[in-house]
Amino acid sequence: MFAETLDKPVKYLKGVGPVRAEILARLGISTVRDLMLYFPKEHDDRRSFKKISGITDGETAAVSVKVEIAGIKNIGPKLAVFKAAVSDNTGVLYAAFFKKPNYRYDVFQKLKKDFVPGSKVMVYGKIERMPGGREMRVEEYEPLGQGHMDTIHTGRIVPIYPLTEGLNGRFLRALIKSALETRLHLVDEIIPHGIAATLPIPSFRKALEQYHFPDSFEMRDKARARIAFEEFLLLGLAMLISKNQNAARRKKREYRVTGELLKPFRNGLGFEFTRAQKHVINEIFSDLQSCRPMNRLLVGDVGSGKTVVALSAALLAMENGHQAAFMAPTEILAGQHFLTIRNFLAPVNVKAAMLTGSTPLPAKRQIRKNLSEGTVQLIVGTHALLERSISFKSLGLVIIDEQHKFGVVQRQGLREKGFTGDPPDVLVMTATPIPRTLALTVYGDLDVSSINELPPGRRPVKTLSVNEQRAYEFVRSELRKGRQAYIVFPLIEESDKMELKSVMGEAENLSKNVFPEFKIGFLHGQMPGERKERIMLDFRDRKIEILASTTVIEIGLDVPNATVMVIEHSERFGLASLHQLRGRVGRAPGVDSYCLLVGDPGTEDSKERIEVMLSTNDGFKIGEIDLRLRGPGKFFGTVQHGLPELKVGDLARDVSLISEARKAAGEILKKGLLEREKPLREALLKAYGDRMDLPRVG
Ligand code: ADP
Ligand code: MG
Repeated sequence: MFAETLDKPVKYLKGVGPVRAEILARLGISTVRDLMLYFPKEHDDRRSFKKISGITDGETAAVSVKVEIAGIKNIGPKLAVFKAAVSDNTGVLYAAFFKKPNYRYDVFQKLKKDFVPGSKVMVYGKIERMPGGREMRVEEYEPLGQGHMDTIHTGRIVPIYPLTEGLNGRFLRALIKSALETRLHLVDEIIPHGIAATLPIPSFRKALEQYHFPDSFEMRDKARARIAFEEFLLLGLAMLISKNQNAARRKKREYRVTGELLKPFRNGLGFEFTRAQKHVINEIFSDLQSCRPMNRLLVGDVGSGKTVVALSAALLAMENGHQAAFMAPTEILAGQHFLTIRNFLAPVNVKAAMLTGSTPLPAKRQIRKNLSEGTVQLIVGTHALLERSISFKSLGLVIIDEQHKFGVVQRQGLREKGFTGDPPDVLVMTATPIPRTLALTVYGDLDVSSINELPPGRRPVKTLSVNEQRAYEFVRSELRKGRQAYIVFPLIEESDKMELKSVMGEAENLSKNVFPEFKIGFLHGQMPGERKERIMLDFRDRKIEILASTTVIEIGLDVPNATVMVIEHSERFGLASLHQLRGRVGRAPGVDSYCLLVGDPGTEDSKERIEVMLSTNDGFKIGEIDLRLRGPGKFFGTVQHGLPELKVGDLARDVSLISEARKAAGEILKKGLLEREKPLREALLKAYGDRMDLPRVG
């Protein structure tokens, strides 16, 4: 039935059966295709064929031998040994296999068959000198048939696969080898000839074979690169297509800069935009004024002033009679943004509202009504804004404060189903300094703007690693100067499992014993929204001098008078969080700020994180190191980003492959090859069809 396809279930393969099929399924292997794409985690060099006389004691080697005589000996109730005297033309040794006997069946049955006197075998293992002669503790062996010299487990570079309980490495290796031998010709070559010909290994089949069973380590590496290239090519195609689709769309809105709202906003700011901000505002305005919907990513380090840039865009939309939506990933962030935005918009006559999942129903109804009638011009909220029940009179601009939490998929969702009618302009903001190539890959469907300078007068935050007592003394001395401070804890409450300090666990100690003379507020994500807002406002208005908190303050809170950030158990935080937290201070021009890292880095990784924090303030550098330490999956949160699961490609390492593949993707689209190349089109749909809205051509 499945005779000659790659979709044949592995359970019908010789030697597999239902039990093993279930075990293989745990590794994600259910078809022959899965089997071929199940890649080794490493390779073991077992090429060194030796002659028996050439092996020194203690050495591990492979030898090709003839079996002289074999026998079994019980060593104890739990251990028996199968021993065969084997020879080549230079000497003799014993090949030994130890096993636990079983009274129900003969554990040595297979060995007896493979080690019949006179037969040829390849044995691999470590050789020791024993009282009775030299002996090899055999790790792998392989019968050598007549003339059939293509070995699997020995005498070559051998693939080592990730295994699971109940699965034998030897079995899996042989299974994959046999799948490759019998069905490799069924694998599609999806890369168009012209491009494939320029690759170190043009054929995917060849690469597949060589990545499993390489002729040399050099070939192995080329094979890996070839397979990775193909993965990146599909990703690049998906991104470019999505980008082109967007570019082909048209919007009806037309914008004119009247200054009606922008002028009072700018005058009320009390500062000039930086050169970088002006540049980015120009880019965004020209997007807004073009006939295509904007689809832009705004990258800027913490504190670089993204919010006012985004607001400028929102005001342009509103000046022209359209609405703007500002989306944050969490309720608390939405709340913070709302506070900040209301502040900035005080001099401007604009109706703003906030909507999140926990907005009470009557209020929600009212806001929905106002949005559909256009009486609310600016809405701040969470993904609750995407609910079907919400409609806008005329939504012109969507601003997404991404901070890692929304991804490609959600953006698509927003574009495709959230809003019908005239497609809104979309601006995504992120403080994650993403290396350029990576940005092209992960955000390849967006145009990128970056704010590469901080507002004037900012001094780099001084970062120190100190003990808690020193940190608290320092907080006291800054507070006496009229400054404010943050103290961040990893947990909300004391936990039995971890000996970590928590916000609520330390509340009494901090307010009664440590800082009795100061007003201190406590904040965490599980508080009701109104209380959180109250506390943040009090901190902003200096009614609270110390804000003790969990990482809820990580993003968004903007209180320039706060000059100290104490991070307790700083070893528990990731680099991105540490950098974001540090970005809460250092916001007042000409004033020194401090980030005090309290904690005890136990692991190498946490030591490195702290070192990095002490040595640089550069968000880009930190981003790159973070990416390296955590790997792209964790760095971006693969699932959230709708990033493909790359089997072989490595977003952090394969920088040049990524850009080559992207170039090739561009060429394919430019030449219209996708229409002609059916296998490529099918592979693309298979990989990305359900995540992205690709054209269903052909
Ligand atoms: P981001 O969101 O990029 O981290 P914000 O938009 O929160 O940064 O801005 C950080 C702080 O800098 C805010 O207090 C903001 O008012 C202020 N700011 C923004 N742009 C300027 C500027 N050009 N000059 C002075 N201060 C600025
Ligand atoms: Mg911000």
